[in-house]
Amino acid sequence: MKENRLLERFLRYVQVDTTARADAEDYPSSPGQLELGRLLAAELQAQGISDARQNQHGIVLATVPATVAGTAPTIVFCSHLDTSPETTGAGVKPQVIEDYSGSNIVLPGDRSRVIRVNDNPQLPSYRGRTLITSDGTTLLGADDKAGVAVIMETTARLMEHPEIPHGPVRICFTCDEEIGRGVDKLDLDELAALVCYTLDGHGSGEIDVETFSADQAIVTVRGVNIHPSIAKGRMTNAVRAAAQFIARLPQDSLSPETTEGREGFLHPYEIGGGVAEVHVKILLRDFAAARLEELADRLRQTAAAVGREFPAAEISMHIDRQYRNMAEGLAREPRAVACAQQALRTLGRTPKLTIVRGGTDGSRLTELGLPTPNLSCGEHNPHSPLEWACLEEMVESVEWLLALAETWSQAW
Ligand SMILES: [Zn+2]
Repeated sequence: MKENRLLERFLRYVQVDTTARADAEDYPSSPGQLELGRLLAAELQAQGISDARQNQHGIVLATVPATVAGTAPTIVFCSHLDTSPETTGAGVKPQVIEDYSGSNIVLPGDRSRVIRVNDNPQLPSYRGRTLITSDGTTLLGADDKAGVAVIMETTARLMEHPEIPHGPVRICFTCDEEIGRGVDKLDLDELAALVCYTLDGHGSGEIDVETFSADQAIVTVRGVNIHPSIAKGRMTNAVRAAAQFIARLPQDSLSPETTEGREGFLHPYEIGGGVAEVHVKILLRDFAAARLEELADRLRQTAAAVGREFPAAEISMHIDRQYRNMAEGLAREPRAVACAQQALRTLGRTPKLTIVRGGTDGSRLTELGLPTPNLSCGEHNPHSPLEWACLEEMVESVEWLLALAETWSQAW
């Protein structure tokens, strides 16, 4: 394994600022994503992949041609170019820690930032490995440039080793995944693939096979506003009614703060307005899509109860569908997960199936008809200045993808 080449790629990619901007109208939302995409398309071309290109939306597409004759299906490896706006990705100075000691890691650019063993109990088991962090003043961007580097190294290896049997392997680098726009401009007909794998998972050897199903509710409370001096018996304060609404939501259960594992929740996460009108945004989450309807009913009942208390207030609710648990779509193409498990076993490793208390690009892709589990690629602590990545885990992901491409050529 050319570990140094993989590391060098990763260090180069994280230094391009691709922070997504939720307030931008443009697609992609930041010019750095276009810059990184251009660089990757040129590198894919230089690897000998002649159809590699960046399309009009900034998405990078390329195909490693099949090395086996016949009808092996097209599979896609996909990562996202952008990084989370929660922590800046401008001026990332990656720190490479070789032969890691297993103890706390003080970040040199801001010594108050420490990656502690207490918060990352798995760290001692990484003793002797190569870890990469930021200097503490930015995120690292392993989410998802670890995935990008893993895919770029995989295509290089496939092009250098035509003796590896595989069908067509499509590469896709998307934009603005972190602000929920990762799939917006993706043309599934153009991908023309049977399955897709996102490389955007934690650690090593994990296959995310389920995500939440998700809706968002916007509750609007309209009050009656009038000058406080003459308000007696006439004012209905939307602020008070909205506060009652939130107070009546479950407090000791069904919230992100009180749930874990497979439990769902209602999460009021934004509120704004005044006496005349208040809006409350609420996330509805559960692994069973049918339970979302029960959560919505609960909101309706709460709204009705508050309405009785504030008869002059008008309370309305609007629900938007966000994404659905990928388990249902994956069940329609069981080989998507089975081949990923099989490939890992051929490497003598044990796959672990995991669930995500959130969504991935794969949730929407699977819903749209392209089964897309998410695979590990060595990321840890995403979106944070305390983010870190493990080079050996990225190497393991490259080996996994090579085996996966080969497994699919035999599965057909
Ligand atoms: Zn990601």
